[in-house]
Amino acid sequence: MSGPAIAPRFDPATLEAKWQAEWERARAFAAPDPPKGPTFSLVLPPPNVTGVLTIGHMLGDTVMDVLARHHRMRGVATLWVPGLDHAGLATQVEVRRRLQREGVRFDELPREEALREIGRWVEEHERRIREQIRLGGFSVDWPRWRYTMDPASTRATRAAFLALHRAGLIYRGERMVNWDPRLRTALSDLEVVHTEEDGELVYLRYRFADGAPGGLEVATVRPETVFGDVAVAVHPDDARHQAEVGRRVVVPLSGREVPVIADAAVDPAFGAGALKITPRHDIVDREIAGRHPELATPLEIFDESARLTGDGVPAAFRGLDREAARKQALEALAASGDLLRRVPYRHAVARSERSDAPVEPRVSTQWFVRMKPLAEPVVAGVQRGEIRIHPERWERTFFRWMEEIQDWCISRQVLWGHPIPVYYCDACGEASAAAEPLAACPRCRATDLRADPDVLDTWFTSWLWPFAALGWPEATAALDQYYPTSVLVTGRDIMFFWVARMMMAGYRFTGRRPFGDVYFTGMLRDEHGRRMSKHLGNSPDPAEVIRSRGADALRFSLVFPNPTDEDGPFGPTALDGARNFLTKVWNLVRFSLPHVPPGTPPPDRPPSLGPASALENRWILARYRRTAAEVERALAAFEPSAAATALHSFVWHDVADRYLEISKEALSGGRGEPSRRESQAVLLFVVERSLRLLHPFVPHVTEELWHALPHPDGFLDNAAWPSPGEVEPDPIAELEMEPVLEAIHLLRNLRSEERVAPGATPRAWIRPAGPEVVRILSGQLGTIARLAQVHGPELLDAAAAPPGRVAGRVAPLGECFLERAAATAGSTETLEREREKLSVLLEKTRGRLADPGFRARAPPEVVREAEGKAAELAERIGRIDEQLKEGGSSAVSA
Ligand SMILES: [Zn+2]
Repeated sequence: MSGPAIAPRFDPATLEAKWQAEWERARAFAAPDPPKGPTFSLVLPPPNVTGVLTIGHMLGDTVMDVLARHHRMRGVATLWVPGLDHAGLATQVEVRRRLQREGVRFDELPREEALREIGRWVEEHERRIREQIRLGGFSVDWPRWRYTMDPASTRATRAAFLALHRAGLIYRGERMVNWDPRLRTALSDLEVVHTEEDGELVYLRYRFADGAPGGLEVATVRPETVFGDVAVAVHPDDARHQAEVGRRVVVPLSGREVPVIADAAVDPAFGAGALKITPRHDIVDREIAGRHPELATPLEIFDESARLTGDGVPAAFRGLDREAARKQALEALAASGDLLRRVPYRHAVARSERSDAPVEPRVSTQWFVRMKPLAEPVVAGVQRGEIRIHPERWERTFFRWMEEIQDWCISRQVLWGHPIPVYYCDACGEASAAAEPLAACPRCRATDLRADPDVLDTWFTSWLWPFAALGWPEATAALDQYYPTSVLVTGRDIMFFWVARMMMAGYRFTGRRPFGDVYFTGMLRDEHGRRMSKHLGNSPDPAEVIRSRGADALRFSLVFPNPTDEDGPFGPTALDGARNFLTKVWNLVRFSLPHVPPGTPPPDRPPSLGPASALENRWILARYRRTAAEVERALAAFEPSAAATALHSFVWHDVADRYLEISKEALSGGRGEPSRRESQAVLLFVVERSLRLLHPFVPHVTEELWHALPHPDGFLDNAAWPSPGEVEPDPIAELEMEPVLEAIHLLRNLRSEERVAPGATPRAWIRPAGPEVVRILSGQLGTIARLAQVHGPELLDAAAAPPGRVAGRVAPLGECFLERAAATAGSTETLEREREKLSVLLEKTRGRLADPGFRARAPPEVVREAEGKAAELAERIGRIDEQLKEGGSSAVSA
């Protein structure tokens, strides 16, 4: 029943492809239908079809896969629905860019052709995205793949629109929106990026209309908007301007007369305290104008591309874009003597996230969702603990945004998206929302209806994802069985775009929470601490990383050592670390295999050990129990990195470095047959259970290795998740092993400090700290001698001193001594060389620690390690100094 032997070299490419094909062939990840018992479900946040997946996606997908595989192994019916987002405007922008590079203007293409181009883009990218998910080894239920533009999504989107429309929560209105003049569409507040930019504050003179000398000094960053002015406003308490309120001034360049008004919203500290009021192009101006009904109706001065237009604009300016208009206006103002001065000015500029064009606040007719009534049940739900946010620190940000929530502009003037399901009757003016195109007006029966030309914001479909992906609005079995979903894993950058809106949609349309837990992953940085971005070119293609290092190495490097919920570094160092760990696991199993006798059944329970059993066997089982419990705790608490850290430390240090070394003698029969059998059983158990615990993190390599061990049929994914409780706790074994490991560690350090030649076995002594340590160590002297490569060690009485020249170290267990042979003790020259070498290392380490950037960016354990290293180096240099003072080769008295 022994499995096939494994290759000497760990070669991820071959074995990963093999297991991916096997899993898919066997439909290993199909959700049980119907499920028996408890369920665990999650939806893959549908990646945008704007491009292919990034390393950031891989981080979220790895966390999800760890959770999904963990639950599957626990016997919980698990569903993971994959899918893709059409990403409306964002995708159209990408296609537009690509065509532009090919010399084609997207905006001039006939509608059908433009849609065909988008379709071509979607097809290409969908293929690559699916391939990336497959290459990552993510255990999604492939046949349930969904797309936010598939027919079921169309039904869901329309149903949601109609429900909100009927309830009066969707309205059409003329409001000021963020307008992208390059893409000629409205944007939601979340699609606007505010950045500090260098600009210019321009001071203009608005002359008094009655011809009196002087006038008002008005500061503005947008002189080209003077054509839309309806007033100049000052603060009512501003003493400088009291006498001017009520007078009339002339708008420069246009010659129109407007009144000077008083309004408390004016900031007296801005410019000279007088503000020009352009209500159609500034939100504050619009509010001020709203409080002064006596003002003239403002004129629209920009067309949808933000070119000057309309009767209020002099012919010489019509058709100019904002930049050209500003330049020409400044020239004309200078010529007329109304330009007083120009000063450099740094201020926040709003730009479109999609096109980077400065956003033009613009009054236009758009569709909106009333958000306050939708937000209320969500806030209550999170407060009740019905939805839990991890890490908890994001809860405050979440609540703050929910309190300040604004209505959501959901109409977009683009091609790519779900059409707004509204039909207009020109005969009677009726606007009707309907799931299917209407044949006749419901009010006057006229038949020539006009469909709304706009499409819906892409998030209006994706906010339905947790239930739409399960078939809503149809009452499907999947909804019945797997909704609400268990957990949502995503980046916190879309907390408001998506997560909060999904919660609103869930409560509104299904009457239930869409998920029980939300887990926000961190945002990855490169090894220099910079955010990963396409622009910097520092975000590697996951497919490339997988090809060169393997999916398992990529996955492990994303959860270890940096916690998945922090903005940590990712790069070659993390990948190398992961790859080394997997090689270690590989070799551990390879070295263990010869110790598995033919016919050994798979371990269905831990070997039963007695008081007579070897200390290392009792110890490693106790350590295993502790590790399994920590993994269990960490996964339940949404701390995948803590689980990975525990496993890394256990498998690498405890099993491979310590246990395997210590038990070599017993395994080779050196302590007799019963000892050998016991150690073999313990080794097989610990290795087999470690593979199970590691499986959710690194599924391919563990599947391969597990099949090399004696095991029942099937996949590791369906093998039972090990319960820590199957092993009895053994705190005594853990306690007793401590001085043994400490002695080995100290003697090894002394060996290297004394530059003992490899293979030499100098004499060693231990003076134990008390009778309890004497008792423990006396049974383990052989182990210590073998692992530290020393002769002895002899245990000394409290009063006794080791004979001759020795080097010593003090520790909790007592004191360890190592014989210093004349040949190994350093001459003055070698000591000085050694000192020089250590000093360089120390300086380097201290330099790193002194760099505030290093301390800020490196994971805490790396910083701690560097601090420890610096202390150790300083200590070694100190010891060499002592030796030099004593004249090089002289003895150090203990
Ligand atoms: Zn009608």
